[in-house]
Amino acid sequence: MSVSQSAQQGAIMILTHNLGFPRIGAQRELKKALEAYWNEKSTAEQLLAAANSIQAANWKIQQQAGIDLIPVGDFSLYDHVLDMTMLLGAIPRRFDADYPKPLDLYFAMARGNAKQPAMEMTKWFNTNYHYIVPEFDADTEFKLASTKLFEEIKAAQACGITPKPVLVGPLSYLYLGKETIAGFDRLQLLPRLLPVYQQILQEMASLGVTWVQIDEPILTLDLDHGWAESFLPAYQTLATTGCKLMLATYFGSVTHHAATLATLPVAGLHLDLCRAPEQLDHFSGSDFTDKVLSLGIIDGRNIWRADLSAKLKTLLHTLSARKSPVWIAPSCSLLHCPVDLTQESQLDAEIRNWLAFSVQKLQEISTLARGLNQGQASISAELASADQAIQSRRESTRIHNPVVRQRVAALGASDYARSHSFTERQKAQRQRFSLPLLPTTTIGSFPQTSAIRQTRAAFKKGDISHLDYLAAMRAEIGDVIRKQEALELDVLVHGEPERGDMVEYFGEQLWGYAFTEHGWVQSYGSRCVKPPILYGDVHRPEAMTVEWLAYAQSLTKKPVKGMLTGPVTMLMWSFVRDDQPHAQTALQLALAIRDEVRDLEKAGIGMIQIDEPAFREGLPLRKAEWQDYLDWAVKAFRVASANVQDETQIHTHMCYSEFHDILPAIAALDADVITIETSRSRMELLDAFAKFSYPNEIGPGVYDIHSPRIPDAAEMLALLQKAAATIDPRHLWVNPDCGLKTRNWPETSAALEKMVNCAKNMRGIL
Ligand code: GLN
Ligand code: ZN
Repeated sequence: MSVSQSAQQGAIMILTHNLGFPRIGAQRELKKALEAYWNEKSTAEQLLAAANSIQAANWKIQQQAGIDLIPVGDFSLYDHVLDMTMLLGAIPRRFDADYPKPLDLYFAMARGNAKQPAMEMTKWFNTNYHYIVPEFDADTEFKLASTKLFEEIKAAQACGITPKPVLVGPLSYLYLGKETIAGFDRLQLLPRLLPVYQQILQEMASLGVTWVQIDEPILTLDLDHGWAESFLPAYQTLATTGCKLMLATYFGSVTHHAATLATLPVAGLHLDLCRAPEQLDHFSGSDFTDKVLSLGIIDGRNIWRADLSAKLKTLLHTLSARKSPVWIAPSCSLLHCPVDLTQESQLDAEIRNWLAFSVQKLQEISTLARGLNQGQASISAELASADQAIQSRRESTRIHNPVVRQRVAALGASDYARSHSFTERQKAQRQRFSLPLLPTTTIGSFPQTSAIRQTRAAFKKGDISHLDYLAAMRAEIGDVIRKQEALELDVLVHGEPERGDMVEYFGEQLWGYAFTEHGWVQSYGSRCVKPPILYGDVHRPEAMTVEWLAYAQSLTKKPVKGMLTGPVTMLMWSFVRDDQPHAQTALQLALAIRDEVRDLEKAGIGMIQIDEPAFREGLPLRKAEWQDYLDWAVKAFRVASANVQDETQIHTHMCYSEFHDILPAIAALDADVITIETSRSRMELLDAFAKFSYPNEIGPGVYDIHSPRIPDAAEMLALLQKAAATIDPRHLWVNPDCGLKTRNWPETSAALEKMVNCAKNMRGIL
């Protein structure tokens, strides 16, 4: 019996749902509204009105795409985990002060203010999205503290859609937070937390909600003792509220928790079948017949058009064996995908035909459902069009470059290592640069003023000539060099005025990359990134940064650090091809960067920083797979960086402090200097470096650039003292946490002046 027959007989109706929709708006409307509010150019009412209209537009888009159950509560003004913290009333006590406007408290927690540093922010699993880390201690209390979600449910109902509210599940919420006092185990808070979840679910049931999506992505991780065991009792507590729970997992396989999952009293289970397709066989078995299976079959993390025929075949196979209900969905929230491909008018037609963004992905989902519900013939046009696109991509001559393939194949051991040990290089570098103890530097970018952005945009549009552009950028570089000299920084940078984005800038100059106009994805708060599309073999036709760096160096006697983006970050922050292993793509990128490093060195640039902020985020979610990733990632960095003289100093920079567990790999990069983010975590990370006896030099960030707050000198000095007590001061550098492009000049100058003074004071003490 075919599925279409069974659907006609009313047996199985395949439903579609979505796990989350991008919040930023197709034209980044949310970003604009937020920034206007923060800059006091608009009122809270205006911000909320803008947010509501984006949300309503998003619901409509999803409805028009044919999605049956539409997520509500996935929208957020800053971050959905922070929204959960507000909903659960888990406001850290340091924010107890009276905030006159309700939004002030919310944004104080997200961004910090004059009185309080922001809450910590960290990467959402292995994505480039950042969430605000909940803070817990033994006194943390929870209470139903916000009506936002309920208002949204009502608003959605008023728009005529069937809302499926989304919550971060209780275990994931606790797990993703952090204890603010040592020795406390946040899992102990679960009994206090569950009654509030019950209340939330009851309230939703009373609003007429049937299905609730409850996200427990931590099920894709290796969970420490106690966590996995807590799922059954927790979900037993939540089983009687009147709502049906769709337990959503994503970003990896949850087969290692299958036994637990089988016992949970939830009505549905969502699986990511793009990251872990093997799960399908596992979970379509008899243990899960009491649950709706939601098949995450369309990739929510990448932009390639789906092979609809292949997907349909998989679905038909599953359905032939399964009598219980099935839903179809994207693999995860579409938060990680750009909004709408139809916004792209400049993209090359051949490449465009290979792509699907959020809106198109939802259409793919409803097409598949229609094919299953009404028979394959009802979608024959869509299938033919997808088949044609898939074949065109497989055969396109624009993808394969034999020269690049040969270079990668010819790489040998000597290409992966510097000629001499760090100790020998350090001697040569000290001689060359004669820097003071605790040298001061920055991470690369300086404020990207609107004048800079306008000049770049005008140049891109062809409104100003090459020469005018060159003059304007040189003026910026000159200005930044003078400012750094006045601040008495020891190692200068050119400020990156020519770069809108650290990946896009390089991608634009490499073969194998394509660019979108509106392919934005939220990174944190109002910050969005536009990952380029890495579709083919990578080749660097000519130097990418040498002109700017040589000019900057010509203006000063102090060393100017060259600034490049590393192969792993280029890969992680691009939408990357799915037709060859990442390791292969990384080596192609590494060779392009290696060529640039050599050209910078030849041009007399003595320090070259190869940024790898995405190194940590590339780690697979499960430890068993780490080594394989680290092997190729380290190898790629070394291919990019090892081909230089001893006296050329290689720097690298990484953001986010969670790499205690991969220090051997960080050391294996063998960068002469690494600058890292440590200020938000109060230098905790340095202990790990010390314990590991990290051999090379380190610049722990002494202040948080993500916050507009000017750091306090005493606070900075305390951090530096802590650092000097932990790490040999002769190996220490002094720098901010990250690049300064998002800050303004008054903040930047004031902060750096304090930082330099702080380094000078510290030199006096040591
Ligand atoms: N060099 C880059 C900058 O300063 C590094 C950015 C990053 O680490 N994300 O902007
Ligand atoms: Zn950084």
